[in-house]
Amino acid sequence: MVDPSMLLERKGLKITPQRYAILKFLQHTTIHPTADEVIEQLNRDLPMTSRATVYNTLNTLRDVGLVHEVTHEAGVLRYDANIDPHHHFICSQCGKLEDLDWKLFGNLNHEALSAQCPVVENIEVIVRGVCRHCRNR
Ligand SMILES: [Zn+2]
Ligand SMILES: [Zn+2]
Repeated sequence: MVDPSMLLERKGLKITPQRYAILKFLQHTTIHPTADEVIEQLNRDLPMTSRATVYNTLNTLRDVGLVHEVTHEAGVLRYDANIDPHHHFICSQCGKLEDLDWKLFGNLNHEALSAQCPVVENIEVIVRGVCRHCRNR
């Protein structure tokens, strides 16, 4: 895991305690938290952080490409610090959203794809189903 301060520096961003803490939290969680969940966590680490600061920080990190917004559920905006290509799985019972390995869906037909979409910006498969935990319940 690359140290958050190194990532911020690489993007030419000043290292602030909030940027550091938010990026670090996002790097170490797999839950793809919403802004509210980020705020909740930050209130434990840096209790004086305002909501506006958290929103601004998330937008800044998004603008430089250090975090991605995940918008697969209507009205829910989640944040993801995994910026390597990957897919997502959403459990229809508990709403959990998890990463799926990029290699799960191999052998893409690039030729057929580029015929319809000559400039591909992002490829992501979204799998909806029931997670192991919910199935066993
Ligand atoms: Zn589930
Ligand atoms: Zn993800």
